[in-house]
Amino acid sequence: MSAVQLTVGQQSFTVGNIFCIGRNYAAHAAELGNAVESEPLVFLKPTSALIDESSPLQLPDYSSDVHHECELVLLIGEGGRDIAAEHALSHIAAYGLGLDMTARDIQSLAKSKGHPWTKAKGFPSAATISHLLPAADIADPQQLHFQLHVNEELRQHGDTRLMLFPITTIISYLSRTYGLQRGDLVYTGTPEGVAAVKSQDRLRLSLGEQLSAHWSVA
Ligand code: MG
Repeated sequence: MSAVQLTVGQQSFTVGNIFCIGRNYAAHAAELGNAVESEPLVFLKPTSALIDESSPLQLPDYSSDVHHECELVLLIGEGGRDIAAEHALSHIAAYGLGLDMTARDIQSLAKSKGHPWTKAKGFPSAATISHLLPAADIADPQQLHFQLHVNEELRQHGDTRLMLFPITTIISYLSRTYGLQRGDLVYTGTPEGVAAVKSQDRLRLSLGEQLSAHWSVA
């Protein structure tokens, strides 16, 4: 099964662009020594980076410091340009959780050289995606708590009320700057607590009782 096709209920989506927001929680920006941004910081992952729960997490051989970043992920159902913030949520088909896996050593090198982050953020299995909850099942996406456990130890706890750029702003900004299409995914940023993973680690993402997803590190 290819993770590039996602299903929500009876609907099927071909994954298009994978947008990721960096530094969207102040405590995470601070833990990496980064300033808070004045507009959303956006980077992209290739679709070849995406895995679902049927695949183990493979670490790239060129990094010795691959970090988990647990994030709320949006699936765009209806695309558009210049989407107003007040209409933004109606463009979201589903919500899930994912890991923005990051080769931190490679990212630091790229930052120091002023290079793009692609090698640090785009390797196969750098984007994990859970099964998805239809948008109708989420009463208010800006009031969600999500967690990441590694080997059953709590590592990250996200509260979407703490996003620096709320979901409506992100959708509006992405639609204005790049355009959004049905099937695009949006990784909305990670809370604090990022850390390295190692072979055999077991990662468990959860959104209350509504959703849980698991990956093992190969
Ligand atoms: Mg991230």
